[in-house]
Amino acid sequence: MVFLSNAISEARIKETNSNGVHHADSVNTSVYGTRWAAEDIPRFAMPEVSSNLPSLHITHIAYTQRKKCLPVSPEDSMNGVTVTYSHLTILLIVDMAYRLVKDELQLDGNPALNLATFVTTYMEEEAEKLMTENLSKNIIDAEEYASSAEICNRCVNMIARLYNAPMHDSSSEALGCSTVGSSEAIILSTLAMKRRWQLARKAKGLSTENPNLILGSNQQVAWHKATRYLEIESREVDCTEGVYCLDPVKAVEMADENTIGYTGHYEDVKKVNELLEKKCAETGWDIGIHVDAASGGFVAPFVNPDLEWDFRLPRVVSINVSGHKYGLTYAGVGWAVWRSPEYLPKDLIFNINYLGSDQASFTLNFSKGAAHVIAQYYVLIRLGKAGFTKIMTNLTNTADHLAECLLNSGRFEILSEGNGKGLPLVAFSLKGEQHYDEFDLSAKLRERGWIVPAYTMAPKLEHKKLLRVVVREDFSRSRCELLIRDIVAALRALDTVDQKTVEAFRALKDAHAHRSLHQSIAHYKVKDSEPVQGPNGEVHSLEIKKAPGIC
Ligand SMILES: *Cc1c(COP(=O)(O)O)cnc(C)c1O
Repeated sequence: MVFLSNAISEARIKETNSNGVHHADSVNTSVYGTRWAAEDIPRFAMPEVSSNLPSLHITHIAYTQRKKCLPVSPEDSMNGVTVTYSHLTILLIVDMAYRLVKDELQLDGNPALNLATFVTTYMEEEAEKLMTENLSKNIIDAEEYASSAEICNRCVNMIARLYNAPMHDSSSEALGCSTVGSSEAIILSTLAMKRRWQLARKAKGLSTENPNLILGSNQQVAWHKATRYLEIESREVDCTEGVYCLDPVKAVEMADENTIGYTGHYEDVKKVNELLEKKCAETGWDIGIHVDAASGGFVAPFVNPDLEWDFRLPRVVSINVSGHKYGLTYAGVGWAVWRSPEYLPKDLIFNINYLGSDQASFTLNFSKGAAHVIAQYYVLIRLGKAGFTKIMTNLTNTADHLAECLLNSGRFEILSEGNGKGLPLVAFSLKGEQHYDEFDLSAKLRERGWIVPAYTMAPKLEHKKLLRVVVREDFSRSRCELLIRDIVAALRALDTVDQKTVEAFRALKDAHAHRSLHQSIAHYKVKDSEPVQGPNGEVHSLEIKKAPGIC
């Protein structure tokens, strides 16, 4: 996973990068007839010249001529000088950088077989077309791209209604914004809860020193970020055997006057609301609930519309959802919605006028592409509630079918909830004793291209290993059958090898893992238990692991 890369020093480049000899003269037959066949692709520094291009002008001529479907003259004039290159050469030069980058990406996994992620891997061509057509728009320029901004407003309206935001009072209408994803929405919502708590405490002359937030220990990493970045104590409710999510009674017991809020996802929000109402009535506290509906926010309203988890519950003050998960849009869009302006303190909102008009902004980033918001709107109106209901019901049925087949194999225990009571995913673990585990099975499936992650459960349940298949729109029944066939075959293969072979395979697995040639910071594992500061107060910085070398 590379979400933090380090710039490699010259010393390390020298140490590890000795492959390839420069052949500057070979720009004639094809990409791989050029120097790139025998020399390393640029990785650390921008090349001084275009990718072996004799001239950018020539490239441009070739490109524009080709767009007009005209042949390129072998004698195009450039700045009054006649240059001669063959037609073929020029066309290949144009393609070269594209080809090099495209080929570099061939070893990426196949998104369609990536069953680890909730994030959308399929959109209709029309959606892709709309996205391509709008790639050059920055949604923050609401004055210049007023229609895109209007589309964003429409999405917020639709989502707020989907979550039953109170709509009867014009003085307290729900508010919302688009974000890059749920993580940004979660950080913004947490900030709003914290600031609201601070303002209320200050007004009463009370301390604002130690805010806390109560979360399930099964929380997503976004919550660790929100609490750590915003300096809030996170009080985690441990999961226990059989209760794999937040226990409402324990959660409400943990509250005190410094609790800024609660979070939960597909958990018993109704019960938390009920207990919290009681507690707040007794103590005079005003504690809200934020619902992390990142993955469930576009499933529950359609598959389980009677489940009360949203603004129908009075203590729910804000909700986030990832448009790029079951909102069926490609990665890059999320939403945050607040019940009413009361929950979004004014001093967090920035009013700017330098883009052509007065506009209010509540985002972490300033600029952001408009294409994903537009694509989200396309999906909302293209499918409508009926379409979403059909798709989410299909996914739920496929997940149930997969769970049933796995159960019938007699080899697995199912840990996820079926029948639409949970998300359309199947979490399962191996039953009984065998000489291999879930991680070995995951690795075996990888040989067929399937990405089915194995992991350990939340703190206190780490001994429990499981595999998870997230059922997405492009995971059809037929693909599901293929997966079942391959799981059965993988079990059979693992059954036939002995323990020693399994262990040898495990040892090799790490060495074979596909990662960047020069291992970057991202591979440094930061454990939550590690102190950030040393005994003398010194701050630990990330340690860069040295790559073993690439040759
Ligand atoms: C995915 C997820 C997040 C983070 O969402 P992004 O859109 O990837 O930033 C947070 N919470 C839950 C429950 C999630 O499933």
